[in-house]
Amino acid sequence: MSIYFDHAATTPVSESVLNKMLPFFSAKFGNASSVHNFGHEALLAVDEARGTIKNFFNCEVDEIVFTSGATEANNLCLSGIIKSAKSREIEVPKIIISDIEHPSVIETCKELEGQGVTLEYLKVNKDGLVSVEDLVAKIDENTVLVSIMYVNNEIGSIQPIRELGKAIKKINENNDKAWRQAKVDKRGTRPNKIVFHTDATQAIRYLNCDMDWNYIDALTFSGHKIYGPKGIGALICKANVEIEPIIFGGGQEGGKRSGTLNVPGIVGLGKSIDDIKKFSQPMDLKKIEDLRQSLVDKISSEFFDIVLNGNYEKALPNIINFRIKNINAESLMIALDMKGIGISTGSACSLSKLTYSHVLNAIGLNADEARSSIRVSLGNASTEDEVTQFAAILKEVILQIKNLK
Ligand code: PMP
Repeated sequence: MSIYFDHAATTPVSESVLNKMLPFFSAKFGNASSVHNFGHEALLAVDEARGTIKNFFNCEVDEIVFTSGATEANNLCLSGIIKSAKSREIEVPKIIISDIEHPSVIETCKELEGQGVTLEYLKVNKDGLVSVEDLVAKIDENTVLVSIMYVNNEIGSIQPIRELGKAIKKINENNDKAWRQAKVDKRGTRPNKIVFHTDATQAIRYLNCDMDWNYIDALTFSGHKIYGPKGIGALICKANVEIEPIIFGGGQEGGKRSGTLNVPGIVGLGKSIDDIKKFSQPMDLKKIEDLRQSLVDKISSEFFDIVLNGNYEKALPNIINFRIKNINAESLMIALDMKGIGISTGSACSLSKLTYSHVLNAIGLNADEARSSIRVSLGNASTEDEVTQFAAILKEVILQIKNLK
């Protein structure tokens, strides 16, 4: 028996995606930058994927920059925008991020902080949510970038992205007006427009990611969370965002990200986005919501000392994070693994000096509570049967661990 309940870590490549990718490893192996027919065939496939992605996010094709995944896309976005701000003589640019960002955002920001950038963290409440008022209060004339993730990968909390985007847009409009009024020749654009970036890696399968509707200037996502391949993702960066490259070479992707295009990966990424439109929102969401309810009902009725982390009403239903009193999550994860069940814990954390999840810490859990927390994440193939088996095995394993104490 095996049950995979770790879809927030990665998903399998779906059959439709795999089939679409396969020819591009062998028969259609061309380099998309080559001028001959082999290259042209590859370029056509890349263009098709770009078109699908453009329609999904409501952006332009040349605003899409393919990368090796969301980690690289986040690095490019943050470092590239700061590099550009510095070249426009904004001496101490400021970045605002939430307390619960993915390490690829936090660690990049810390690196930039070491290079003279001001970094400010926006606190989240016990539900794992930032507030628009707090953000507005932190924005000042040096702020060049706000980066707030759409959905948190540990607790599933959904940020009010559209409201945050709207507030930033209003501040930009007011600043533009003031700048133009103060300027004698009335030409040019204000040098420090605030860019609103969101890491939408965990959101895109389920939530509205229209960039204009959400007032988003830059967005990152990854293939392997949406039944696409690993090692491919993208940064979408609106044309008016000033950004400089961090990888140099042959000038691919409009000079923003050099390197031979990962054609099979891009084809797979495009197909996985195409499949979201066809199959998921909102059908998958309802199914997964029902499964979450069933799982929560089962584990709560079996054990009285289970506490849900975060607020389920304000989170995506595929991510369920809970703690079990007096149980070490690492031991539990290993014991479940031995029974063929894959889940994850929030206990490993490489950020700052914390030895447990910075996300669980940010929503108010102490070290013991965080170290007894596990994350179960459901996917489109998860079934009621699996939920029933999981609850039964979880109970068995917990009793086992308790007896061993
Ligand atoms: N951001 C978030 C929210 C994620 O969940 C992940 C993957 N855990 C990443 C970024 C990094 O994505 P990738 O594996 O494509 O580098």
